[in-house]
Formats: sequence, C-alpha cells, structure tokens
Amino acid sequence: DAAGNPVLQLWFDGELVRADAPLAPLTTHALHYGSGVFEGIRSYQTVDGGSAVFRLPEHMERMRKGCELLGIDFDVRQATAATLQVLRANRQSAAYIRPLAWCGTGSIGLDVAPLSKHLMVATFGTVVHLSGSAVKLGVSSWRRNPATSLPPLKLCGAYVNSILAKHEAKTRGFDEALFVDEAGMVVECTGANVFMLNGDKLTAVEHADALPGITRDTVIALTGAESRAVPLAELMQADEVFVCGTAAEVTPINILNEHRFAYDKRGREIAQLYRDVVSGADSSHRAWLTDVGLPRD
Ligand code: PMP
Repeated sequence: DAAGNPVLQLWFDGELVRADAPLAPLTTHALHYGSGVFEGIRSYQTVDGGSAVFRLPEHMERMRKGCELLGIDFDVRQATAATLQVLRANRQSAAYIRPLAWCGTGSIGLDVAPLSKHLMVATFGTVVHLSGSAVKLGVSSWRRNPATSLPPLKLCGAYVNSILAKHEAKTRGFDEALFVDEAGMVVECTGANVFMLNGDKLTAVEHADALPGITRDTVIALTGAESRAVPLAELMQADEVFVCGTAAEVTPINILNEHRFAYDKRGREIAQLYRDVVSGADSSHRAWLTDVGLPRD
C-alpha cells in the first residue's frame, strides 16, 4: 500500500485477490440473515524455522458439518489447499486464519437452494484474544443459543448471541462473558470453553449448548482432564479457572463476577504446554501440525 506495507491477499472462489477489494454485493443473503459458516484457525512459527497450521483437518471437518446444514457444498480438500495457498502468498509464519462459506445472491427469500454459494479464506497477522494482568469474567444475563434451536457449530448468525454477551460484559467492565443455563450450569464463553482445577483434579466443563472446541479437545488430550457438567456454584469455588480457544489459546481467569481466584499456576503451565505443542517444541504431537510450506529462513 501507500505506506509500504504489503497488501494482504485472500482466496475467493478459486482466486487470490487483494484483501481490500470490494467483492460481495450488498444483496448478499449472508449479510441479511447470517447464512454462512466460518472457522477460526491459527498457524504458528515452528521451532525448526517453518510454519504450521494447528489441527487444520479438525477445523475443516467442523466447517464441513456447518455447511452441510446450510446446504453449502464444502470441499475440504479445496478449502485446505486454499488455506495453505493464501498463507504462502501472504508470507505469514504466524496468522489467524478465517475461512468463510456463505450464501450469496439469487433470491431474498429464506430458501437457500436458489442462492449462489461462495468461499473465501482470509488471514490476519494479529489475533484478538484475552489478555491483561487480571482477566475478568462476568456471568452473562443472556442465555446461550440452545443446541435444539441452533446447533453449536460456527454458523454466522448464531454469533449475534455471543456478540450480545460480549458487548454486555465489556460495558460492565469485564473482559469476557460466561454463559450459564437456566439450571445454573456453566455453558461456555463467547468464544472459548471453560476448565476448572480443584487440587490435582482438572475438569473440562461439558454442556450440550457449547461448541465442542478443538482447543478444549487438545487440552483434554494433553492433561487427561475429566469432562462433565459443572454448576456455576462449583466453578466459583474452584482453585483455578481457565478458558481456551483457538484465539484465546489457554487463558487463566483471575476474576469471576466479584470473586477472585486464589491461583492461576496450573493454568499458566498448561498455557505453556499448549504453546510448546503448537510450535512443535513438544515433538510428541507433530501429527497435529500441517506444514504451510513457507521457505525456512
Ligand atoms: N466456543 C465458542 C462459542 C467459540 O466461538 C470458540 C472459538 N471457535 C470456542 C468455543 C473454542 O473453539 P476452538 O478451540 O475450536 O477454537
């Protein structure tokens, strides 16, 4: 661009185009109704000087399921190749990757069958995640979309629910919102899953309305944490709480409403373990890394 920064490219329906090119018509169905499916994926610089995408097949499989629900044909191999192609084109060794499949134009009705379908993959050099010296979580007054109404997949429109909760949390001075259901059971955050530690016992919060997070699955695999339903009252009394997600990675929670947790030691250890795994420093989980194919320097 004019300032000398490289212009990022994105992959759109089979071609690499400038990321700032205006592409979608204003009559795009997904813009009106949220009829799209997205993923949030990360690539990391690896200890051998390369770059790798973390658990790419699992992200693609989740996206395929969402697309299937919306009648969008999704070719996992094409989307995988597109992701690697755009990462190489943008020469980013660490990136946040955003594939999006959506319903385009052809009708303004709710039937998706006659609509054009599109796919794009964008990459970002910076990631919006939870950070700070004391991460504050506030219980939301909003309920999570129940899985019986909106399956916990990354359907665009479903995220209005997360946006409402995030907006409320920020307005109240919290960093992130915690969804709790009518029965007082913990669900998840707006974009992350929840864990708690009591003594030596690590527990992954399980809930039918929560997105089955790939980072959650990773942490369970690395630590042997149990997975079960957890009431809010029990979470409040935990020694430690942390949340995890592709963007959030593993983030210890220091404050929940007015309560301050005594510790965040184990959460910080697991955060480090996660960083070692995604960077390949921990070589026992290399199978989770997909090499981008960027030249090593
Ligand atoms: N819950 C929600 C609602 C999310 O949007 C995300 C982010 N994808 C997660 C949990 C964490 O999922 P993952 O670890 O697969 O990124």
